[in-house]
Amino acid sequence: MRLDDKVREVVAVFEKLDQEIAAFQQTTDLHCKFGCGKCCYKSDIEATTLEFLPFAFDLYKKDQALVWLEKLKQSDSSICLILNPTQSGAGLCSEYVHRGLICRLFGYSARTNKYNQKDYVTCQIIKTEQTANYDRAAKLVTEGGEIPVMNQFYMQLHAIDMDLTQNFYPINEAMRRAIEHVLSYYAYRDA
Ligand code: SF4
Repeated sequence: MRLDDKVREVVAVFEKLDQEIAAFQQTTDLHCKFGCGKCCYKSDIEATTLEFLPFAFDLYKKDQALVWLEKLKQSDSSICLILNPTQSGAGLCSEYVHRGLICRLFGYSARTNKYNQKDYVTCQIIKTEQTANYDRAAKLVTEGGEIPVMNQFYMQLHAIDMDLTQNFYPINEAMRRAIEHVLSYYAYRDA
């Protein structure tokens, strides 16, 4: 598959997920605290290479891929490098449109337990500051209500590219690998 087609397929999965999250938020009335982004500061976020392919492709198109590759290579930070706490507005992600699958899933998705039932997984802030809505949402999910299911979305990405979803890496490494993949793809091809 051509790389631009692959990027389009990943974006389509993201768009479907975003719609499902919006529907879940509307049903449950759950939302992130304004300007929070605390989950982005976690130092153990892992991601696959494929989920950052749209980000890497966009950088390549903007002639920024080498700049970012160098930035990622030079950094030894375990905190996501595209996090920008200084920007104005609600979000802290400087590449919000191109954020990865894990960034989208966090807070508004379920995992399946050993009985094949869905368990709603979210952050402490939502749990403790929106307790009544959280309790209602958790019950709704346990009873089979609609919510994005993590492994189903990972499977959708896996179906697009098995190699680029095989391993999970620290988030900055996943971004670096995605950029390297795009650069090596276009090394002998025209964009
Ligand atoms: S998911 Fe939780 S920690 Fe992350 S931005 Fe939303 S409220 Fe904050």
